[in-house]
Amino acid sequence: MPSGAEGKAEKGTSEFDFSAIVPGLLNWYDRNARILPWREDSSPYRVWISEIMLQQTRVEAAKPYFERFFAALPDLASLASAPEELLLKLWEGLGYYSRVRNLARCARIIQAEYGGHFPGSAEELRRLPGIGEYTAGAIASISFGLPEPAVDGNVLRVAARLTGYPGEVTQPRFRKEITGKLRAVYPAGRCGDFTQSLMELGAVVCLPNGAPKCSCCPLAELCEGRRAGTAAEIPVRAPKKPRRVERRCVFLLCCGERVALRKRPSKGLLAGLWEFPALEGAFEVSRLAELGIPPETPVERVVSARHVFSHLEWEMQGYLAELSQPVEGYEWVTRQELETRISLPSAFRVFRRFLLTGK
Ligand code: SF4
Repeated sequence: MPSGAEGKAEKGTSEFDFSAIVPGLLNWYDRNARILPWREDSSPYRVWISEIMLQQTRVEAAKPYFERFFAALPDLASLASAPEELLLKLWEGLGYYSRVRNLARCARIIQAEYGGHFPGSAEELRRLPGIGEYTAGAIASISFGLPEPAVDGNVLRVAARLTGYPGEVTQPRFRKEITGKLRAVYPAGRCGDFTQSLMELGAVVCLPNGAPKCSCCPLAELCEGRRAGTAAEIPVRAPKKPRRVERRCVFLLCCGERVALRKRPSKGLLAGLWEFPALEGAFEVSRLAELGIPPETPVERVVSARHVFSHLEWEMQGYLAELSQPVEGYEWVTRQELETRISLPSAFRVFRRFLLTGK
């Protein structure tokens, strides 16, 4: 990897002619674009939902969610009036639940302030909750045909390799520079396709984790990273901090057919979502009182699970406890409700499965 090369990087990036990539990339996209459910039409509602969904989710994993979401909430009006429990259920397993809450907030604002029509400029779109630079660029270019780049990690990786950029691509300065350079070369009449062709190249050819498929890349002849033999090491990233590990005891409190749940605090990790009652740290019988469970309750150690968040790791041990009476302070739901109505974060999937199947 070239070193000490901030100055060189800027020089290399600024020398690269982004206009040269447009014809080859569009030509390649015309012949190779994948058929994806959200590409069937380019209405802002579909583009918006798909882009928000795809922010933290792979394409293959997102497809069934997308289809389910559209079957339940086919338009902005239905999203604006959807109850939160339904939204969370439709989003269950995708994680980052603030995204779906913002979708609903945003839909209500568009209904109330824009007469149910998406504002047609990237600047106005960015003012809406949950719509950042990237999503605004995607909607503006794909749905409204405007020369607005949608620069995410994939596009930054492609740009860094094309230009042979040896710095950290997460720096705002690099993102700003690439956004400006791309905006200047957006082809009139094909803005949406240009946005999607860049995304597509990053998704299927210029792959992450040191695996670019340069031999089948339409931009290979133009690519500085490939020419210099550095493409696989680009982009460089700052070393990640190790995650904090938290041990938790998760209690599967049962009373006949019913199971105890509680809502998580309204701020922070998995804010406002359902969870099984839990304690941080190791299990001791004396700690049952912290959850209002009578100390004589028989408790059996059952399944365990591990869940990794971006900065934190939960190591969870489940404990099954059969109560003769429901204790206060919890929502007691039937097993059927647990399966069909309640949205549980995927961190607790193992425990729900255990309650439903005994395994
Ligand atoms: Fe990426 Fe290789 Fe294409 Fe360059 S030639 S853009 S590194 S796939």
